[in-house]
Amino acid sequence: MEMWLKEAQIKDAAMTYKVKETLVRKKTNYQDLTIVDTEAFGRMLLLDGIVQTTIADEYVYHEMITHIALNTHPNPEKVLVVGGGDGGTIREILKHSSVQKAVLCEIDAEVIKECKKYLPEISCALEDERCEIFIGDGIKYVHEHKNEFDVIIVDSTDPFGAAEGLFGGSFYREISDCLTKGGIFVAQTESPFYLPDVVKRVYKDAKDVFPITKLFMAGIPTYPSGFWSFTMGSKKYDPENADISDKPELETKYYTKKLHKACFVLPKFVENLTC
Ligand code: SAM
Repeated sequence: MEMWLKEAQIKDAAMTYKVKETLVRKKTNYQDLTIVDTEAFGRMLLLDGIVQTTIADEYVYHEMITHIALNTHPNPEKVLVVGGGDGGTIREILKHSSVQKAVLCEIDAEVIKECKKYLPEISCALEDERCEIFIGDGIKYVHEHKNEFDVIIVDSTDPFGAAEGLFGGSFYREISDCLTKGGIFVAQTESPFYLPDVVKRVYKDAKDVFPITKLFMAGIPTYPSGFWSFTMGSKKYDPENADISDKPELETKYYTKKLHKACFVLPKFVENLTC
């Protein structure tokens, strides 16, 4: 019998995936965790029934949440990831030879454990000696570390439950204090098609804190609407005007130096959210 998984992307629209095998399904202290193998996208991690990452399209998200910020900063040495327990963002960060230490602050140890077991293509860098894993709440971690990281990446679940406090002004102020002088912050900030109010609010909140605030986009097939936003706050360096010509070429499938500039060109309805 065929098995199909249905993911409600909003209240009235859903995506379905043909499932080959369910590899793990459990309740952690924080969420329902499922990893399935699908026909179209390969293995897939879901938290509370929402797709987090898939083998087929994870590179878009992980490259874009990482390389725009790390290539904009002239010398990123210490990087913090809040969330990101699948390890894809850490894998991309460690492609930058300037990085001496990448801290992963993930609230749910089970995500890391199961991704190491079932998604090795994504989690492979979590064993790297430059990666330090801290299990705990990112809000508390950021509050307790001042002036420490050159780049902070908020690779979180949607703005509900444990991740709710990771979207908004008071957290961005703490992030700013946790960053070094020329520090850069970037976060995944949802679909402007389905959640324009969230995108607009988050952008405004970041703009109230950071002298340079930019929104950029990427096309991610398995994320709601396929059209995804990232918000970046920077104390000093402008990603659109940064001279990245001398930055080493990275082994990527989506990010290019041309795209580094082009991704900030927004469709009108998205641009309107930043006014
Ligand atoms: N790429 C993903 C997306 O946009 O769907 C995010 C993937 S990653 C698995 C998200 C992680 O954020 C989850 O593992 C979740 O446990 C973690 N998380 C949520 N709230 C958190 C918090 N307050 N502190 C640290 N980690 C958190």
